[in-house]
Amino acid sequence: MKNISFSCLFSCSASTVYTHIPTEHLCSHFLFETGGKPEASSTVEMEELPVPQNIKISNITCDSFKICWDMDPRAKDKITHYFIDLNKKENKNSNKFKHKDVPTKLVAKAVPLPMTVRGHWFLSPRTEYTVAVQTASKQTDGDYAISEWSDIIEFCTADYSTVHLNQLLQKAEAIAGRMLKFSVFYRNQHKEYFDHVKEVQGGRLLPSVKDNSGSHGSPISGKLEGILFSCNTEFNTGQPPQDSPYGRLRLTVPAQALFGPHTRLYFGDFYCMYTAYHYVILVVAPRGSPGDVFCQERLPELDAADNRFLTCVATEDGQLEFRHAQDVILEVIYTEPVELAQGTVAEISGHQLMSLSTVNAKKDPSCKTCNISVGR
Ligand SMILES: [Zn+2]
Repeated sequence: MKNISFSCLFSCSASTVYTHIPTEHLCSHFLFETGGKPEASSTVEMEELPVPQNIKISNITCDSFKICWDMDPRAKDKITHYFIDLNKKENKNSNKFKHKDVPTKLVAKAVPLPMTVRGHWFLSPRTEYTVAVQTASKQTDGDYAISEWSDIIEFCTADYSTVHLNQLLQKAEAIAGRMLKFSVFYRNQHKEYFDHVKEVQGGRLLPSVKDNSGSHGSPISGKLEGILFSCNTEFNTGQPPQDSPYGRLRLTVPAQALFGPHTRLYFGDFYCMYTAYHYVILVVAPRGSPGDVFCQERLPELDAADNRFLTCVATEDGQLEFRHAQDVILEVIYTEPVELAQGTVAEISGHQLMSLSTVNAKKDPSCKTCNISVGR
């Protein structure tokens, strides 16, 4: 059976991985039910327990939320527990059997509202959930008297916060490796792409919305607009590789045109796709540009002269020297339009390695190297 990691709803220190669900070993704050409704078989209906009304969800993060509701104050003293039924919102295309082993019913000790629900074992970022609540009263024989279920409320968890992104950043720093010199950013595409740039866009590459590759819950997926560039070099030649999954034509732009004192650098994401390669997404945004403003609120900023992935350092003779991490593949998103005239377009001599494409690539959720403990 798959291991399931539990942690306490109320953020006490209990957090243990079990192969089954030995509820007697969990902390006293809560219990889990894996199948059926918590009231099944041994509980009795007790009309006077108040049904939670007007449920409100607030303070939503990628792995927690606060919940509160109204209830008849006269019966409050009888309530010893809350039953919370939390489910991923049914998706027509999803496999109904996929999440069957994940417990969704919580029995929480009654606490003053709002109550914080924090359980990274089932809350994923950027995911829609439904929630309903019962009030319950534990009887002397151990059974529960319960109210009717409340109305069902829907909500969506948030993207990774900068706290989580900083954890991801630290994981990426650990495997980035030594720094190699580079001098150009490059972008491969098909002939049709560059024809369109010349004939329709007046010679300018325009930013487009980032796809859903990388971490589920990344705040830039589907939101940040930019143009994707590479800068990795081959350690033996010091030059960009001659292969690319993205097309036979390559725009090559001098590094200082896109990255330097006029830009800010942000850590965007860290992921892999079931292969040995790890990818780090960085964002380079001209200071004060819309992309810069977007990232400032959402992503960890990196010191352009001193970080483990991509650096720009002024040498004594006033030249800029650029370096990239050797052991990760960098995907650099530049957030503003780029003129074709800033660089040169030429055909690569290598192959088109489609398998290395990261377009809408799904992150491997089981990789210990690039996953933090929240979400999937
Ligand atoms: Zn990985």
